[in-house]
Amino acid sequence: MASKNFNAFEMAQKQFDSVAEMLNLDQATKDLLRNPMREYHFSIPVKMDDGTVKVFRGFRVQHNDARGPGKGGIRFHPQETIDTVRALAMWMTWKTAVVDIPLGGSKGGVICDPHHLSMKEQEQICRGWVRQLSKDIGPLRDVPAPDVMTSAQHMLWMLDEYEIITGNKYPGLITGKPVGMGGSLGRTEATGYGVIFTLREALKELGIDPKKTKASVQGFGNVAQYAIELYLKLGGTVIAVSCWDQDDQTSYTFLKKDGIDFPKLLSITDQFGGINKDKAKALGYEILHGDAWIEQDVDILLPCALENQINSETVKKIQKNVKVIAEGANGPTTPEADAVIKERGIFMIPDFLANAGGVTCSYFEQVQSNMNYYWEKEEVLSKLDVKMTSAFLSVSELARTKKLYMRDAAYVIAIDRVAQACKERGWV
Ligand code: GLU
Repeated sequence: MASKNFNAFEMAQKQFDSVAEMLNLDQATKDLLRNPMREYHFSIPVKMDDGTVKVFRGFRVQHNDARGPGKGGIRFHPQETIDTVRALAMWMTWKTAVVDIPLGGSKGGVICDPHHLSMKEQEQICRGWVRQLSKDIGPLRDVPAPDVMTSAQHMLWMLDEYEIITGNKYPGLITGKPVGMGGSLGRTEATGYGVIFTLREALKELGIDPKKTKASVQGFGNVAQYAIELYLKLGGTVIAVSCWDQDDQTSYTFLKKDGIDFPKLLSITDQFGGINKDKAKALGYEILHGDAWIEQDVDILLPCALENQINSETVKKIQKNVKVIAEGANGPTTPEADAVIKERGIFMIPDFLANAGGVTCSYFEQVQSNMNYYWEKEEVLSKLDVKMTSAFLSVSELARTKKLYMRDAAYVIAIDRVAQACKERGWV
């Protein structure tokens, strides 16, 4: 989210500019890619349960669709800003390109806080969002999905509204739908699992046995939960999780030096990934401040919450044993912190590669929806593993051979693919 001195879009443009320089892109291509192609800003009036009407601001940004229809989630967040949505749309373009799926990059958002909205109010926001955009999204144009604080239920309401407006069934309009209503098995797990598929490959490359590693995680929502589940299956130990307390809406780090009991922790967690602090204390967790996850003596850091978490201040707290950072969140590390991480030789698996499992599975969901034929979960997850592993290997090979920082290597591959598509279409 935007904070006083942090602007996600400026950060995304800064990252782009430095790689555009490296790739020697011509001016027109730079001008095209450093800004979104289209954006929509609109109001959504909602009849609140108490009889009043409240107007919410909504956005959709379509950054680039040279490689296929726009693709990207919709966030519900009280601090959402258009610049955050612009950055996230741009990162979606690089994400779909780095895993080489035939889609572009978009993102949407609504300034609202689902913690304080009834399901009926949330349903009206979803339907209102689609009413404002029904001509500008579509299975062949721009395909939304869930993101921070949006769920399969939200996606189904949006699909339903679109189908009412158009009079036809379009299961390929949106992804992250409930299983049985056009959703894909494995979609819920996909982003978190994808993070760990790439982490597994990184550890292999570094010659580190996952069973001998410890991790600290920021976030306990959908991405973090499935990342933790698979990392534990690989034999790793999670010693700290940082997230919101359910009651006072402040973030804390829940520390257990001998390893968290994952099912028990889940049993005291709400639908937004907030842990109940008092219950955690009773289970023997040390309760530390929200930033303490980053200063733990672990091998692996998994930032799986929001942007701007590893910045010029917090990066100083990273302990000397940390060997790998895998970014489950979008934009958790600022360019200033990147410079330090690069200098220290910590292996970085950048966001738009590490967390591309969600959109890759969304692509599988679209394929299944369009065929109206659904695969078994094992098939979905093994296809996901193949895609994530091959994307990781291409990036890490380029990083090794050209001596590039992993984020730069991922950018080089992604930006080059998108620039090429724009050129081949005759846009630039
Ligand atoms: N919101 C997810 C992301 O940031 C998934 C997007 C999608 O499935 O389209 O990658």
